[in-house]
Amino acid sequence: MKNIIFIAPPAAGKGTQSDLLVKKFGYEHISTGDLLRAEVASGSDFGKELYEIMNSGALVSDEIVTKLLENKLSTVSEPYIFDGYPRNIAQADILANLLNKLNKGECVVIYLDVPEDEATRRATGRLSCPNCNRSYHKYNESTRPKVEWKCDDCNTDLISRDDDTEETFRKRYQTYVENTSPLLDYYQGKGMLHIIHNPVVPEITSAEIEKIIK
Ligand code: ADP
Repeated sequence: MKNIIFIAPPAAGKGTQSDLLVKKFGYEHISTGDLLRAEVASGSDFGKELYEIMNSGALVSDEIVTKLLENKLSTVSEPYIFDGYPRNIAQADILANLLNKLNKGECVVIYLDVPEDEATRRATGRLSCPNCNRSYHKYNESTRPKVEWKCDDCNTDLISRDDDTEETFRKRYQTYVENTSPLLDYYQGKGMLHIIHNPVVPEITSAEIEKIIK
C-alpha cells in the first residue's frame, strides 16, 4: 500500500476516508488538526493560543505544526496518511525533506475535489466521537450514527467542532483557497497528483482511492 497525502478543502471527507483506510488496511492516520486539538484539550496556555487561531479560521504557524508532525512521524510505521499537512507550499517542502531525512517512503497525493457549498454543508453537519475519533455526518444516510448523537462503536456522546460554524467555516475555506490550493499545481508538476472529482458517496470514493494506492 502506498503512503497518502490528502489534499482537499476543509470538511471534504478526508477524516472519513482515513478512518476507512485505517480499518481496512491498517494505515496510520496522521492528522495535524487532531494533533492540534489534542493540545487544545490539554487546557495549557499554549492550547488556548492555538484555540484562538484555529477558531479564527487561520493557519497555525508552520513551525508549531511541523514540530508536532515530526514528533508523531518518528513513532509511526508505514503505510500512513497525511491529513491536513501540508497546507501550503512551505510545508510541502518541509515534508519532502522530513521524509527524506527519516528515510520514509514516497507518497501519492490524492485530491478530493469538493465544491464550496457542498463542503459547507458537510462541515455544518459533521460530528465526531471524542473517545475513538470516529467521524459521522448528520445528513448522510451512510455515515449517520445509528442512535442520534451517540457513537456506534463506543456509545460516547458525539460532538461537533467549534470551528464548524458557518461563519468560521467560510474563513477556513478562504484560507484553503489562498494557501492550500496552490499545492495542486505543485504536486501536479511532480507527477504525484490524483484527482477524485466530486466525491459524494464514501464507499465509492474509497473504491477509487483503493485503485490509486494498490
Ligand atoms: P479541516 O481539514 O476540516 O480544516 P483540520 O482538522 O485539518 O480541519 O484543521 C483544523 C485547524 O487546525 C485548521 O483550520 C488550522 O487552523 C489548524 N491546522 C491543521 N493543520 C494545519 C497545518 N498543517 N498548518 C497550519 N494549521 C493547521
